[in-house]
Amino acid sequence: KVPVITIDGPSGAGKGTVSRALAKKLGWHFLDSGAIYRSLALAVTQAAVDPNDIDAVVKIASSMELEFETNDPPRILLNGREITDQIQSEECGSTASKIAAYGPVRQALLQKQRDFRREPGLVADGRDMGTVVFPDAPYKIFLTASAEVRAKRRYKQLKEKGADVNLERLTKEIEERDRRDKERTEAPLIIPDGAVLIDSSDLTIDQVIARCLDIVGG
Ligand code: C5P
Repeated sequence: KVPVITIDGPSGAGKGTVSRALAKKLGWHFLDSGAIYRSLALAVTQAAVDPNDIDAVVKIASSMELEFETNDPPRILLNGREITDQIQSEECGSTASKIAAYGPVRQALLQKQRDFRREPGLVADGRDMGTVVFPDAPYKIFLTASAEVRAKRRYKQLKEKGADVNLERLTKEIEERDRRDKERTEAPLIIPDGAVLIDSSDLTIDQVIARCLDIVGG
């Protein structure tokens, strides 16, 4: 079976940066599962559909065409249109977390995620990679950091992109999203059985990457 490293954890823990770098170093594929939920959130918003209308959201999930181009930097296309930057907004993240609470929505996105598992291997970044999507993954990591550190990192990221952000509001949004992700009944954010826990609060990205490489023996 094709090997998978799952990297789960809350937003802002550094999963994206770490998983991308890891995939590059190993020459493996990369799955940004959050981007799939965010793309669906955008498609739902564009269709002016109520995020709580589960049937309508599932319909969009099944019919949307998503392409992940593996250029450097990678591009994401929704029904042929580039949405790479658009889905990074806090609004998209917030809608994504709302629709992600519904079991049928998660179910509709399951196969799209599993399709990323191809030779020679996959680094899968998300919330339920080790628990639901790739429970048989040989390597599982749970990457976390304090809420304060995560909010500051996100703030810096968004600021660099020229976004108009407010640290206090961002911290609240992150805490709210964390709460929803942990408390939901469908695939809640938990540490998968057998996962190695890494707290990145006081580590540099390179130190985190080195630990992950140790785990896969690379
Ligand atoms: O990781 P990112 O912030 O891009 O994910 C956006 C939202 O999508 C998360 O807050 C979470 O609610 C949802 N998500 C999920 N399961 C995943 C990835 C993301 O529920 N595997």
